[in-house]
Amino acid sequence: MEVVTASPEETEALAARLAAGLAPGDVIAVSGELGAGKTTFVRGAARALGFAGTVSSPTFTIGHRYEAPTPVAHLDLYRITGLDSEEWGDLEPYFDGTVAFVEWPEHGGDWLPAARATVTLEHVDESHRRVRITSEDDLGL
Ligand code: ADP
Ligand code: MG
Repeated sequence: MEVVTASPEETEALAARLAAGLAPGDVIAVSGELGAGKTTFVRGAARALGFAGTVSSPTFTIGHRYEAPTPVAHLDLYRITGLDSEEWGDLEPYFDGTVAFVEWPEHGGDWLPAARATVTLEHVDESHRRVRITSEDDLGL
């Protein structure tokens, strides 16, 4: 599916609709250039999964784990230039029992578990973003 959202709130609401069809073990790849709305999308999904705290970009750490009725992992691989097995060993726990959202999944190479859905965000203008969600599953969107 593909939609154009007109505000961060609309992007969060779309993410909440996706979240309704997710369960622990699911990995969601979230792609798009800086400022496209990846973290905004993850924020909407994490809230919908029951996390009431702050969802901010994990740019200075690799990831956050948000404890909620459905635990949520939020990774940002922007700074990763190629994983080895040791680095993957540090990341793997984030995927354990969580719905995991991965920004810059392209930087994870072949180490990342297969994504259940891929979200791609693109700038249209200052307040609009084109959001594509693809999945082999019917996620009820
Ligand atoms: P990224 O994680 O892709 O770098 P962020 O989600 O951190 O992007 O930032 C997106 C920025 O764009 C925020 O400042 C947000 O308020 C703004 N924005 C404007 N319109 C939208 C929209 N329709 N959807 C998402 N974010 C939007
Ligand atoms: Mg981000």
